[in-house]
Amino acid sequence: ALTIRGLRKSFGSNEVLRGVDLHIPAGQFVAIVGRSGCGKSTLLRLIARLETIDDGAISFGEAVRAEDVRVMFQEPRLLPWARVLSNVEVGLGRDRASSDVQVRAERALAEVGLNDKRGQWPAVLSGGQKQRVALARALVSNPRVLAFDEPLGALDALTRISMQRLLERVWQDQAFTAILVTHDVSEAVALADRVVVIDDGRIAHDVSVDIPRPRRRGSADLAALEGSI
Ligand code: ATP
Ligand code: MG
Repeated sequence: ALTIRGLRKSFGSNEVLRGVDLHIPAGQFVAIVGRSGCGKSTLLRLIARLETIDDGAISFGEAVRAEDVRVMFQEPRLLPWARVLSNVEVGLGRDRASSDVQVRAERALAEVGLNDKRGQWPAVLSGGQKQRVALARALVSNPRVLAFDEPLGALDALTRISMQRLLERVWQDQAFTAILVTHDVSEAVALADRVVVIDDGRIAHDVSVDIPRPRRRGSADLAALEGSI
C-alpha cells in the first residue's frame, strides 16, 4: 500500500501541493487528473523520490528499494548509444550485478512484444516502440509501484489504444500498484479502478470506477468528471 499524508511542496513562493492525503491499496490502478500545472508530475516525482518533500509523509507500508518504484514519462528517455536490450537492463538498477540480467531483460521485452528488436538502436524505433522499450525498462525490476506521467500523450490515436491495452495487460499480469497521470478522462476511466482529481494543491475528487473492465471503453458517463477538471 502507498499512503500519503499531509504532503506539501512549494517551489519558491509557488505552493504547488498544499496537503495531499491519499491512500492507495497494493495492486490498485489509480488515475490522477487535473488542470495543467496543478502538480500531478510533482506528486509523481515525490512518490519516486526524484524530488524532496517539504512537509508530510509518503510511506509504502514496508521498506522499498529504489527499484521498487518506477516512473515512466511522456518521452521514453532511452539511451541513444545503447541497444534496446541494454536500455532495458538499465532498469534493473543495482540488480544489474546479478547473473540473470539478460534473461530478465529479454523476458521484459517479450512482455511488451518487442523481443525481435533487442539488437536495434533506439533511433530506428517508432514512437510507440520506444515507449514499449521504456515500459520494459520499468517492468524489468518487478516494481511494486509503477507511476506513469502522460506516457501515451505523444502517441497517435491507434498506437495509444494498443498501448492502453498493453498497460492494462501488464498490470493484470504483474499486479503492481499503478498510478497514471493523464489528461484524457476517458483513458483514466478505461484503465483505472479509481480517478483522483487534484485542484488547488489538494485532492478535490476521488471517484471509484465501478464499470466492469471488459465493458469500460466508451461506456462511462464522463460528463461529471470532465466538469470537475
Ligand atoms: P501538466 O499537466 O502541464 O504536466 P502538472 O500538473 O504535471 O502539469 P507540475 O509539472 O507538477 O504540473 O507543476 C506544478 C507547478 O510547479 C507549476 O506551476 C510548475 O511551474 C511548478 N514546478 C514544477 N517543477 C518545478 C521546478 N523544478 N522548479 C520550479 N517550479 C516547478
Ligand atoms: Mg505534468
